[in-house]
Amino acid sequence: MPVVQLQELTRQYRNGVTALNNVSVAFEPATFTAIMGPSGSGKSTLLQCAAGLDRPTSGRVVLDGHDLTALNERRLAKLRRSRIGFVFQGFNLLPALTARQNVGLPLRLAGKRPDKATVERGLAAVGLADRGSHRPHELSGGQQQRVAIARALVTAPAVLFADEPTGALDSASGRDVLRLLRDLVDEHGQTIIMVTHDETAAKHADHVLHMADGRLA
Ligand code: ADP
Repeated sequence: MPVVQLQELTRQYRNGVTALNNVSVAFEPATFTAIMGPSGSGKSTLLQCAAGLDRPTSGRVVLDGHDLTALNERRLAKLRRSRIGFVFQGFNLLPALTARQNVGLPLRLAGKRPDKATVERGLAAVGLADRGSHRPHELSGGQQQRVAIARALVTAPAVLFADEPTGALDSASGRDVLRLLRDLVDEHGQTIIMVTHDETAAKHADHVLHMADGRLA
């Protein structure tokens, strides 16, 4: 069973732009997929629809057995919090919180008290066991992105979406982050879907999808 299935997905914006044009694709468990294509080809729109952050005009998104397009906002938000991880180019950590508090945040938002062992394991899994009490400005870009990855994984999501995760990093830290993503797939069976401009980043993936004009090429 695929973890994520996009079925005849179309997303038209109100300005008349068709950002996604009848896209169908399935993502299998424990695979790392890179989505590439020129600016404006629909990559972000695909990721946003697949992650339940945007709603397609038509078609279906089935994630972890749930039809996202059939859920109301409340149930969709709940599913996003528990089954979907997202990392961004700009890390999006909360600057006033320590690395440890950032990692525990999704659990707090889900109304749980973050389990200390779970949070420490998450930090250790991204190589930051000794950085838990640091705030984002005390960490390098690569370390901040690893905190963001630990945060995205703390709820054990079915799929991790990454939008240009190495876009703000120098090439050495970018490579470390890509190796980490690769290990998460190989060692922990994580499913990862990543948008990237970078050919070298795409080399770490199992599959590369190319988009052009809202379609898969
Ligand atoms: P990419 O991520 O490949 O750069 P996007 O998915 O951001 O592409 O955009 C695909 C197309 O949809 C582009 O033509 C873009 O201008 C348009 N688009 C994206 N977001 C919006 C929006 N909120 N409103 C109107 N048009 C949009």
